[in-house]
Amino acid sequence: MKRFVIGFLMFFLLMSSSMAIEVRVNFGKFNLPEEPVVMNSRILVPLKAIAEIFDAEVLWDPHRVVTIKHNGNEIIFPIGSMTAYVNREERALDSPAILKNSTTMVPLKFLEEFIDAKIEWHDPQAIVNIVLEKEELIQRAESVSRSYAPRSLYPNAVNKVVVVDAGHGGSEVGANYGGIYEKDLNLSIAQYVKAELEKNGVRVYMTRNSDVTTSLASRTTLANSVNADLFVSVHNNAIVGKPSVQGTEVLYKESVINRKGVTSKSLASTIQEKVSSLAGTYNKGIINRTNLYVLNRTNMPSVIVEVAYMTNASDLNKLKNRKFHEDAGRAIAIGVLESLQSMKG
Ligand SMILES: [Zn+2]
Repeated sequence: MKRFVIGFLMFFLLMSSSMAIEVRVNFGKFNLPEEPVVMNSRILVPLKAIAEIFDAEVLWDPHRVVTIKHNGNEIIFPIGSMTAYVNREERALDSPAILKNSTTMVPLKFLEEFIDAKIEWHDPQAIVNIVLEKEELIQRAESVSRSYAPRSLYPNAVNKVVVVDAGHGGSEVGANYGGIYEKDLNLSIAQYVKAELEKNGVRVYMTRNSDVTTSLASRTTLANSVNADLFVSVHNNAIVGKPSVQGTEVLYKESVINRKGVTSKSLASTIQEKVSSLAGTYNKGIINRTNLYVLNRTNMPSVIVEVAYMTNASDLNKLKNRKFHEDAGRAIAIGVLESLQSMKG
């Protein structure tokens, strides 16, 4: 039992410093249900995917022991243990088998002697290459890899164009409260919006990506010239003398602009709901505003997200935390992605 516990402790310590390893088959990309991990200088991969290539039988028992049967051999890995049992004989391991998100991860090199493959390590690129020769195995590996290919939750968002506008910048600091400039909060959150959108295949243009003074005209000109599908401006709010006012509001302008079923108002509603629920801000609702430059000059659905109130102590506390920027940025992006996904045609 003690050994088991130590094994797990080591796992968590090493996981934090794990490097990005790529697994390939005959140098072609091989998709896995979980990313490989490095432990005690050994590379652990999801057993399931490897077993599928070689048509090996995998048995789980409730005492956290996994058994593999293949080509007349039986290999038993007690999870977290430095000992495996091959045909009932003890074998020392350099790294134990572990569980990662409920997936059994086993040291790949240890399996080499039992499977019809060579395992090669290519150091500079951090690639593990599984060399297969039999046509049958190559074909099965291709089908296994296909079954684990990442699927976007928003396939309709791929290659759509979104302009992300970080409000203010440079000499225009925006609201200035508690020693914090709004322009810096806006850029930080906007960069998380960009990252999440790009992860989902959206083509993103930033009106600014650093602390530079940027005219309102150049922001809307960019959006119109790239024919963006959507325009999202990121700001934070302040109302001096009313410290109790807090939360998120999304500003839009009621108009006839309609991009394949998405309007400024529908975009505002979707983002408003996502930010308040996913980033945990008070939901102040959406507001129709007719006098705001960027909402008036863009030819596509456009919104201004006022993430939180710098003049409210609770909101300001959130805004001082980078994790909140990430949560808010991701929430805005999810609202955008859902809107892109709903576009017809
Ligand atoms: Zn602002």
